[in-house]
Amino acid sequence: MNLPQKQNIQSAVNTAIEVKNAYPEIVTDVHHWNDKLFSFRTTRNDGLRFENGQFVMVGLVIDGKPVMRAYSIASPNYAEHLEFFSIKLEHGRLTSHLQNLQPGDTVWISKKPTGTLLLHDVHQADNLYMLATGTGLAPFMSLIQDPDVYEKFKRVILVHGVRQNNDLAYKDFIEKELPKHEYLGEMISEQLIYYPTVTREPSIHSGRVTDVIRSGQLAQDLGLPQMNPETDRAMLCGNPAMLKDSCELLDGLGFEISPRIGYPGDYVIERAFVDNG
Ligand SMILES: Cc1cc2nc3c(=O)[nH]c(=O)nc-3n(C[C@H](O)[C@H](O)[C@H](O)COP(=O)(O)OP(=O)(O)OC[C@H]3O[C@@H](n4cnc5c(N)ncnc54)[C@H](O)[C@@H]3O)c2cc1C
Repeated sequence: MNLPQKQNIQSAVNTAIEVKNAYPEIVTDVHHWNDKLFSFRTTRNDGLRFENGQFVMVGLVIDGKPVMRAYSIASPNYAEHLEFFSIKLEHGRLTSHLQNLQPGDTVWISKKPTGTLLLHDVHQADNLYMLATGTGLAPFMSLIQDPDVYEKFKRVILVHGVRQNNDLAYKDFIEKELPKHEYLGEMISEQLIYYPTVTREPSIHSGRVTDVIRSGQLAQDLGLPQMNPETDRAMLCGNPAMLKDSCELLDGLGFEISPRIGYPGDYVIERAFVDNG
């Protein structure tokens, strides 16, 4: 079904139908970063508890049926609202509708968050590398606002790999707003290093996430030794190819992956999406 771009989603979406094991939440804010990416905020049911880094199922009732997809929560677990950072796919079953969300619309949020990007599943060390591509940034937006991250690690290095400069969603928020955060600002200013890297046009840093690590460019730019399991830990969220390459790279450097939830390792991974296409 092709909807005209500006059609209000509620005409295609039936809010009268209940989605099992999900809370109905009201959209309070929508921000379009570009023609491929947007973020939205919703109300948050008091019953929804989650750990920073986890994901929920988010969806709409479309043509009488719930269409739910996994979404990392981009807001921290102490915030009153929920925030999500989404791709816009022209033919995506969910996102072709979701991209037309407007304040006041209803979205369904599953009641049981889950996921592997958990702070307690990485052993303590000096540096925590958060490696993200595309919308894989979402869980790290939650984690970089978690004070426990800065208690556990001396430095937190957030690497965000994208194709174009205007895909660097949240750049201003990370660089300008977070350091002024009322409670976390001091920790963030001293401990968080943001490293955006762009593949398809000139930028402050260029190249794929795995390439900037492998070549030593990241280490050189940070003034740190090459990533190693003695001083470093990593959390990864990206497309299937990025995860495969990163795991090979980290395994080759001697890192050990956390085998499953509750069993800490040197690094943890989460798929930013499943590649069916
Ligand atoms: C654990 C987990 C967490 C996720 N978190 C997020 C998130 O925070 N934000 C988000 O936008 N998506 C996220 N996704 C992907 C999301 O579940 C959907 O795939 C996405 O919303 C598109 O849904 P769709 O029905 O429109 O298209 P689909 O039919 O689901 O996707 C069609 C194809 O588009 C591609 N694709 C899907 N998602 C993406 C993406 N995010 N970036 C680039 N290409 C993609 C894939 O090749 C996929 O096969 C996550 C997926 C998983 C497994």
